[in-house]
Amino acid sequence: MRTLDHTHDPHARSWIESANSSTTEFPPQNLPFGVFQADGLPRVGVAIGDQVVCLGTLAEAGFFNDSLGVAIHDHVDLTGLMSLSVAERRALRHELFQLLTDPQSRLATDSRLRQSALRSIDQVQLLKPVEVGDYTDFYASLYHATNVGSMFRPDNPLLPNWKHLPIGYHGRASSLVVSGTEIRRPNGQLPPAQEGGAPTFGPCRQMDYELEVGAYIALGNRLGEPISLADAEDYLFGITLVNDWSARDMQRWEYQPLGPFLAKSFATSVSPWVVTMEALAPFRGPAFERSLDDPTPLPYLQNDTNAKTGGIQLQLEVSLLTEAMRQQGLAPHRLSLGSFGNMYWTLAQMLTHHTSNGCNLQPGDLIASGTVSGPTRDSRGCLLELTWDGEYGKPVPGSQRTALKLPTGEERLFLAAGDEVLIRGWCEHPERRTIHLGECRGQVV
Ligand code: MN
Repeated sequence: MRTLDHTHDPHARSWIESANSSTTEFPPQNLPFGVFQADGLPRVGVAIGDQVVCLGTLAEAGFFNDSLGVAIHDHVDLTGLMSLSVAERRALRHELFQLLTDPQSRLATDSRLRQSALRSIDQVQLLKPVEVGDYTDFYASLYHATNVGSMFRPDNPLLPNWKHLPIGYHGRASSLVVSGTEIRRPNGQLPPAQEGGAPTFGPCRQMDYELEVGAYIALGNRLGEPISLADAEDYLFGITLVNDWSARDMQRWEYQPLGPFLAKSFATSVSPWVVTMEALAPFRGPAFERSLDDPTPLPYLQNDTNAKTGGIQLQLEVSLLTEAMRQQGLAPHRLSLGSFGNMYWTLAQMLTHHTSNGCNLQPGDLIASGTVSGPTRDSRGCLLELTWDGEYGKPVPGSQRTALKLPTGEERLFLAAGDEVLIRGWCEHPERRTIHLGECRGQVV
């Protein structure tokens, strides 16, 4: 677990004035990494206020020690940084914090260097931060699993394994796309209209999003060498917003017995910025409090540190902007507001379970949490749940679905052409500077 230090001081200010604004997403306490395009080349950068600082330019100007310089320079994405040890990652944060908060730092005082290293975020194209090798999606919200289970298997919503292990499936890394990429409605097999009938092939009619949080893996492990829960946090680099686009009709037909396949693999969006575990240190808190009749996890999946600090206090919001709203100049309409603190399993437990059979993870691999849903209707993280007439685990008799009403008078059970889904996330605490994860958006075409 990362410790608090001077880089979390809520009073720290940057000489970049936009980073001190009360509304900035990227104050000096945050320092998320991303990849942007400048002069035709992908470059590794860190966000501060409304600016992005090119780390490659700083490395060329003699900043950073050798291993940090190589990690930045020899890669076109963040995989190099994700190969660094915890101590090296902390050293990099400290060096960047000093450069960006000390008005006497060489970056602050050398105007030529400043001009070549700093760009306005508005003026650059943000790229996918990592060429992910492997992507795994979990199913770690008790509320989501119970709600969805109640729809698909009313008599048996939560399968007997669910509270004993973080359920997951292998996702598709090749179709991960950065926020802003258009999402094409997939074609696929749709379930028969009545039981015993034949399926049809055509455009998905129940297009949905899933609000999720992703974690990028640092360091990785050798094949055959599991990562213990005590060590798991060192192997987490940072977190990002994820939208696991889902074709619900295709999913319902194909998911048994081996889990989701084409209903998920057509696209998954990720946000451009990666907020490090170091930046999240002030916002760690208890893991989900299990009810007394829940089973105790097996020893490899539990320890005191994880129970006390394995959670992340992160607020998550989903908004929708339809074509008609866009034409009428309306702001995106909030669909839900939830908390990552509602997840039954922690990221460390997911990582430990993933490697418990000896499976090797590599730097830059992505694990996603599964849909983040809470106990209330307005904290449900996908349309499948938001339009379902049931409370957590309890369907309303005689009722199935109620469409969401939008400010234009439009209604939605699932996504329509032109709909844009926007996910935002932030960590706030009364005694801390609020830090944001940025935005993950995608429009269905
Ligand atoms: Mn998912």
